[in-house]
Amino acid sequence: MQARLFCRMAPVVKTFDYLVIGGGSGGLASARRAAEFGARAAVIEQGPWGGTCVNVGCVPKKIMFNCAMHAESLHLLKSNGFDVEVKGGFNWGQVKKARDAYIHRLNDIYARNLDKGNIEKIIGHATLTEDRCVEVNGQKYTAPHILIATGGKPVFPDVPGAEHGISSDGFFELEELPKKVVVVGAGYIAVELAGIFNSLGSDTSILIRCDKVLRTFDSMISAVVTEEMEAEGVKVCRSTQVQSVKKESDGTLTIQTSTGVRTGVDCLLWAVGRKPNTDNLGLEKLDIKLDSGGHIVVDEYQNTSASKIYALGDVCGKFLLTPVAIAAGRRLSHRVFNKQNDLKLDYSNIPTVVFSHPPTGTVGLTQEEAEKQYSPDRVRVYKTTFTPMFYALSDKKAKCHMKLVCLRPDEKVLGVHMVGLAVDEMLQGFSVAVKMGATKAQFDETVAIHPTSSEELVTMR
Ligand code: FAD
Ligand code: NDP
Repeated sequence: MQARLFCRMAPVVKTFDYLVIGGGSGGLASARRAAEFGARAAVIEQGPWGGTCVNVGCVPKKIMFNCAMHAESLHLLKSNGFDVEVKGGFNWGQVKKARDAYIHRLNDIYARNLDKGNIEKIIGHATLTEDRCVEVNGQKYTAPHILIATGGKPVFPDVPGAEHGISSDGFFELEELPKKVVVVGAGYIAVELAGIFNSLGSDTSILIRCDKVLRTFDSMISAVVTEEMEAEGVKVCRSTQVQSVKKESDGTLTIQTSTGVRTGVDCLLWAVGRKPNTDNLGLEKLDIKLDSGGHIVVDEYQNTSASKIYALGDVCGKFLLTPVAIAAGRRLSHRVFNKQNDLKLDYSNIPTVVFSHPPTGTVGLTQEEAEKQYSPDRVRVYKTTFTPMFYALSDKKAKCHMKLVCLRPDEKVLGVHMVGLAVDEMLQGFSVAVKMGATKAQFDETVAIHPTSSEELVTMR
């Protein structure tokens, strides 16, 4: 399989079967699978192994979410019979140290797994060259098959003083819990990080341009998560845009917004979206097409506009989720290196969870999408709202909300949408049912598990 390729400008240092740019979720998964099929693979990475998810994404975020969940359950302990008193509050610095150590261990595990798979590690920034090679630190590499899985990075808005704020990357560098926080944005990251700050004790505001967070989700989720954030103590500032940010001599920030001034802010966190990592990647040299947002355009098999150069994951801008990048990467390697010529990722019915408080889970079409795609009279919706038994003895009673979106006449379940305690762990199994095309009757034929919250999904009327 190995080709002897030479580049015009300098001799190729090394030739592989598969050259992967980006050692994050998608790149690593694809390289490892290709190596299992006997390909000589190399991965080029400019930062720590594991990419966004491991270093500044899912993993450290989930650790902080777990801390926030512990903080919330502390308030429930007394009513559940425990004679406890919390002294001293939350030690952010201690958690950060332990979290960083955990992530370093993961970085090492990823590096060792590459070694075990006989995958070459190349450290540095990769740039494609005109002669279809990849240059790293002045050395050239090539392969018949090249994958671009370079991920993305946070966007900072074009507002005077924006640089005084931090992004989600900066969240993971904070050495202590800020007292007064302003989060700007209304998507996954804004909701998750505002929730963590709030639960751990920061005075937290979220500034949103419209009237609800998570506007692209089912309307039930969008409304409930916004209400729950407010009920938990987050100040939700609607129809509010930041106009300027000023750093005061005491180090605090003064934020001028369209609805007033906020003073004494210790931490401003921008969560207004992400952009693809394509800087200085040399895509133009090989005529690799980009969309209007700068994402790499691929077909359903992850092929870019250049022959045998593929792209996947966040750099393509579609479903920015770790398991999506991994699944696309593995399938690509099956197709290219294991002769499974028709294998590709089906991007429909991808389940996703927002680690809000309480968490949100969703798979399939929203009610609004279903009504648009079919017609409102063909869509039947089942809804329920209840208090999980977990709160039976507690004063706090965060409700659980569930919705099934079904298509008449056979009531195939097109979408499952939930907000409530433990729905993050419930969703995976129900996603299998949705992916298999289960109907409401088949949900109902399944005997419930009692007493749980998930039983509501098979008993809705
Ligand atoms: P990445 O993981 O970003 O990897 C790309 C790699 O390429 C990086 O390591 C980068 O350093 C490297 N690179 C870039 N350019 C070059 C170059 N020119 N040369 C060499 N190397 C280069 N997803 C979930 O599913 N669940 C979650 O709970 C979740 N939480 C998240 C929380 C946050 C705060 C963020 C920011 C994201 C979260 N995500 C979550 C999304 C998830 O992290 C991404 O979808 C996933 O990491 C994308 O994988 P990828 O392989 O496309 O890119
Ligand atoms: P999102 O696309 O989810 O949200 C960004 C939101 O910010 C927009 O929806 C928009 O909401 C708002 N916004 C955009 N521009 C501005 C502006 N100038 N001022 C104020 N608000 C603005 O992006 P995120 O950065 O939150 O997350 C990126 C992706 O990472 C997610 O889409 C998700 O795929 C992934 N992710 C996944 C997680 C998970 O699986 N749990 C967790 C974190 C990230 P509006 O239009 O309503 O104003």
